[in-house]
Amino acid sequence: MEEITTFGKSGHTIGKLHLFDGVTDPDVEAMLAPCTVLRIAADEELPNMHGTEACVYVVLRGALINFLVVDNTQQRRTDKILPGESIGELSVLDEAVPSNTMTALEETDLLIIPSRLMWKLIDEVDGVARNLLRQLSFRLRAANAQLRRREKVGEFYRQLSMIDGLTSLYNRAWMNDRLPAMVEDAHIAARPLSLIMIDLDYFKKFNDEYGHVGGDNALRIAAGVLSAALRPSDFAIRYGGEELTVILPDSDEIAGKMVAQRLCERMRKAIVFEDMHKPLPHITASFGVATLDAQHGAEDLITRADAALYRAKEAGRNQVSF
Ligand code: GH3
Ligand code: MG
Ligand code: MG
Repeated sequence: MEEITTFGKSGHTIGKLHLFDGVTDPDVEAMLAPCTVLRIAADEELPNMHGTEACVYVVLRGALINFLVVDNTQQRRTDKILPGESIGELSVLDEAVPSNTMTALEETDLLIIPSRLMWKLIDEVDGVARNLLRQLSFRLRAANAQLRRREKVGEFYRQLSMIDGLTSLYNRAWMNDRLPAMVEDAHIAARPLSLIMIDLDYFKKFNDEYGHVGGDNALRIAAGVLSAALRPSDFAIRYGGEELTVILPDSDEIAGKMVAQRLCERMRKAIVFEDMHKPLPHITASFGVATLDAQHGAEDLITRADAALYRAKEAGRNQVSF
């Protein structure tokens, strides 16, 4: 890096510099004439020239790349700064030292406008103030658009983290997140809510017979049975392993039992293998139903549905208990 000349002797004019678009005042050239022009080699980092004083850097030739320090270990590359463009305006406006590290992509010449001169230009030359405003509003819009994109991506991954990869049902994290709110809503509105705990029968044997890939396939079929049989307002969840849960908002005890019976029957009839002569051609499941009461919450609901499921297993599996 070296100070090669001043702007006045550099052969450059303000004509191609965006900050001076439409500015014809000859005094401006004169004000800028003593400003330093700095040459930076390719890959060289731009030092903070003026100690703690902020300044605007205008690229006359070459290109800069701006690294934004996200935290101590991470840096993010932003857009290139090309001839005519400038950087550092914000640090002049808020009188703070920039948090950016700038690097030259190739040999680059920069005009340095120190903070005091920049303020003088803003105060005295309307065109400069207007160009600066336009530039800042453009950057603000770009930053907002990027923020919105990131929010969307964040929401996408949040949703994805709530879905079970094997069955595409909601997962346990989703249920932990949502069930307490559904219970609260039901309590407030004095509406019923039922929950069904489901465990596939003798699934270890199924795995032993067909291997885990066959078992996984059966699990997907079981999940499909639930999805196909429920109303859009109901929710099917993979609670864990081969345990599934169904949440039925607005459904009392009678409705809960009825739905569980229907699911039990459809599970039994689901076709797992086209060849019905294979051993264990069907999957069956045991179902435990519980309905929310006014005094208790989500945990109690799950505990009661679990206890009912245990009774269904004890009574011989492939059935509903409550
Ligand atoms: P029960 O009728 O008493 O429920 O008998 P079970 O053999 O199903 O017993 P249990 O519910 O305790 O066993 C669960 C088995 O499910 C054990 C495990 O190998 C299998 N399993 C759990 N998650 C998965 C999975 O994601 N894929 C496969 N293929 N098997 C799973
Ligand atoms: Mg189990
Ligand atoms: Mg089981």
